[in-house]
Amino acid sequence: MSEELSQQVERLIRPGIRALSAYHVPDPGNCIKLDAMENPYPWPPEMIGAWLERLRHVSLNRYPDPAAASLRQRLLAEMEVPAGMDLLLGNGSDELIQMLALAVAGPDRVVMAPEPTFVMYRMIAEVAGLRFAGVPLQADFSLDTPAMLSAIEAQQPALVFLAYPNNPTGNLFAAGDIHRIIQAAPGLVVLDEAYAAFASDSFMAALADYDNLLVMRTVSKMGLAGLRLGLLAGRAEWLGEIDKTRLPYNINVLTQASAEFALDHRQVLDEQTGQIRADRAQLHDALAAMPSLTIYPSEANFILFRTAAGEADAIFAGLRERNILIKNLSHAGGMLSDCLRVTVGTPEENAAFIAAMQEILDL
Ligand code: PMP
Repeated sequence: MSEELSQQVERLIRPGIRALSAYHVPDPGNCIKLDAMENPYPWPPEMIGAWLERLRHVSLNRYPDPAAASLRQRLLAEMEVPAGMDLLLGNGSDELIQMLALAVAGPDRVVMAPEPTFVMYRMIAEVAGLRFAGVPLQADFSLDTPAMLSAIEAQQPALVFLAYPNNPTGNLFAAGDIHRIIQAAPGLVVLDEAYAAFASDSFMAALADYDNLLVMRTVSKMGLAGLRLGLLAGRAEWLGEIDKTRLPYNINVLTQASAEFALDHRQVLDEQTGQIRADRAQLHDALAAMPSLTIYPSEANFILFRTAAGEADAIFAGLRERNILIKNLSHAGGMLSDCLRVTVGTPEENAAFIAAMQEILDL
């Protein structure tokens, strides 16, 4: 790059943006892909045929229904949203996080979340010009509730994000602690339930009890990551305002039609989810039998584990050499040193992963 051009870039692009690293997605090549919390199962062939038939009736020359009204009605029922609450749809829940940040952005506004957690809360807050305050979890990845409450008191966050279950740690925080945080927060608390399909608890019903609670879900982990569809449930008073930050037609016609079709076949999705939950238990036990590892309990479709000190990079590389891609978190900072995260795959993929781990660890 010429000197002049790099000076122009430096002058024009905000320092906060230049300081960021772009969200990085590694090229999986032909690896067994256990890095991104996807559902590994395709649809049965007859369901694919019926889906393609449905898509024949979709018009690509017209804009989509801007409110995605039919899909929204369907999701209100399918996601057990309490009566009287509304839904806002996003191009993935990532877009909903962005809409929330844009809606509250302003000088001195704070977004807060415990850390480690989903990295997009911090990244989107910074892009929107908000200050992000991360409050460290305890060593066992439970909430440090006194620290959260005093940070809330001191910093008066406009938004608090709580991932329930949390990514990348996999645990549900204690529900009682979450109630205390919602009660203490001066602004909105967003319960991000991306992994609800694999978890034993949800705050969806609690929406009725609080004015400042929103619950976010996604269809990504239910086997529809390619559709890009997230949903935010809560009171119309909030959602109506947040909706003003939404780009027109954010849910495209293919997503609207395909998501409704998929919900017509909810049983197939639910069976896949059930299989993943059962396989998670087996994967947990197989990893727990490896003496040098510490395994964290998971209510999601992935498992976080800690290797012996300094070994994570070599294990990650050893898996990659064997064509298995997981997530290396060991450079993500403080509490995640030596940590790796594996997504639950098919039984065959999980077996290949376990066999590779045994080989790498000389077991
Ligand atoms: N929230 C959490 C906690 C996540 O882990 C993820 C994705 N990994 C998302 C939200 C984003 O999901 P989506 O695919 O709906 O954008």
